[in-house]
Amino acid sequence: MPELPEVETVRRGLAPALEGRRIAHVTQRRPDLRFPLPPRFAERLTGRRISRLDRRAKYILVRIEPLGAAGEEVLIMHLGMSGRFTIHGPEGTRTPGLFHHGMPGAERHDHIVFDMEDGTRIVYADHRRFGFMDLVAAADIGASAHLAALGPEPLGNEFSAATLSGRLKSRRAPIKAALLDQRTVAGLGNIYVCEALWRAGISPNRSAASVAGAVRSERLAAAIRSVLLDAIAAGGSTLRDYAHTDGELGYFQHAFAVYDREGEACSKPGCGGTVKRIVQSGRSTFYCPRCQR
Ligand SMILES: [Zn+2]
Repeated sequence: MPELPEVETVRRGLAPALEGRRIAHVTQRRPDLRFPLPPRFAERLTGRRISRLDRRAKYILVRIEPLGAAGEEVLIMHLGMSGRFTIHGPEGTRTPGLFHHGMPGAERHDHIVFDMEDGTRIVYADHRRFGFMDLVAAADIGASAHLAALGPEPLGNEFSAATLSGRLKSRRAPIKAALLDQRTVAGLGNIYVCEALWRAGISPNRSAASVAGAVRSERLAAAIRSVLLDAIAAGGSTLRDYAHTDGELGYFQHAFAVYDREGEACSKPGCGGTVKRIVQSGRSTFYCPRCQR
């Protein structure tokens, strides 16, 4: 499942093909993905020019310029579990942020095709259909049901040790669960919560409130940022690696310190601990009981 860094990698991969370009044609092969597509979806996008691609948590926000009676709109895209974009352009074919193993017959799941005025074709495929797209007026984006309840963007200016501390201090839940709650901080999933807690040296079993102090909240906020930035940097390398369209690249898994490393030696210098797996709220947590306290 793509997390924030993978979505950011996809956004960066799509941006050059979309920003400043006009959509000539949209092919919609189904009425729905996870949710029904908006009414007249293809028609409303046809002929529109894209100004910019932003990201909020795990949502890609495609900003659509006004045209005629239509004001500025935002195409909200979520990749779900298995959504991916393939760009067929003058420089060949590439799939930014590819994180899946090969999916034979994936072309049967090419659900939405954007043909740009310059001839570039962008194909959205989602064989499990947990992803979705929505089209809303730009003025209403803050009130969108998808985005309204999200906490601060971890790589944005509003996220700091102080804001994190404020959102943890009255919580008795384990810190792991509090960080998975998108109201605490937006866009973190199981993988990067495990990785950030390991970097911060904080046990996933600790209560959220016990992490709200100045020292631990500072360490955790810094770890969240650094783990995301490192993963984005690793993902960025795949953008140059167009040859690997076989789905075997899996760039990000090589960078994990604890996630999916049960029984392996902790890689923190001098620790000597062993990575352990426990289950919290039905999800696997990987951590080092020796250096995470
Ligand atoms: Zn350790």
